[in-house]
Amino acid sequence: TFDRTPLIAGNWKMNMDHVQGITLLQKLAWTLEDAKHDFTRVEVAVFPPFTDLRGVQTLVAGDDLPVVYGGQDLSPHDSGAYTGDISGQFLAKLGCKYVLVGHSERRTIHGETDELLRTKVEAAYRHSLVPVLCVGEGLEVRTAGRHVEHTLEQLRADLESLPAGQVADLVVAYEPVWAIGTGEVAGPEDAQEMCAAIRAELATLYDAGTAASVRLLYGGSVKAANAASILAGRDVDGLLVGGASLDPAEFASIVRFEH
Ligand code: PEP
Repeated sequence: TFDRTPLIAGNWKMNMDHVQGITLLQKLAWTLEDAKHDFTRVEVAVFPPFTDLRGVQTLVAGDDLPVVYGGQDLSPHDSGAYTGDISGQFLAKLGCKYVLVGHSERRTIHGETDELLRTKVEAAYRHSLVPVLCVGEGLEVRTAGRHVEHTLEQLRADLESLPAGQVADLVVAYEPVWAIGTGEVAGPEDAQEMCAAIRAELATLYDAGTAASVRLLYGGSVKAANAASILAGRDVDGLLVGGASLDPAEFASIVRFEH
């Protein structure tokens, strides 16, 4: 049994054009419908590229799909001279519920700092989007045994100045960088250790009630074969899935981890 509704989220990254994205989502929805998946028991979210969002919105609304979706990033600004950027205002208007903030690929490839990510978290809340804040250590930090300290530092820096009331519906994804797209998955006890540490830190920063309501996901080479064991951790409330979310049958099996 879960203390919080589990969230299984698929990050499509820069894959699936707007035609492929629709086909993927349709297949996923059919598979879950056939299996009579109870979406109130396990929430399902997808994070398509920006250019797919309008199509996803049309399909979800038209077919009344119980799947929710979000953007993979957002600008800290609401509008203006920011060529190439997408604001939280636009995402909200397209029916997004969530937005990824601080995915490790944004931190490394685009040099996004905690100072910037803090303003992105604020921008998400300004437009009633729920941030899925990604944190996690690289291999060197893990090898040095500083992974918990490092991840909590990121958490504190990214949430600075946010009031408890706002943080209550937050989602935090623990994604050890060495496990993303590498086929190397953290052990269930590693995922649980970090999620427990994050929850304890939230209790210190805010209060026990807030900490108990925040959902904590694990991400990094999740597949149908390892989903259930990772989700057995009592502080692990869901999964952020990259590669395996591009295969509708595999992703549906992850969603149906209890079966
Ligand atoms: C991710 O992109 O968030 C991720 C965890 O990727 P993968 O599942 O492919 O490791």
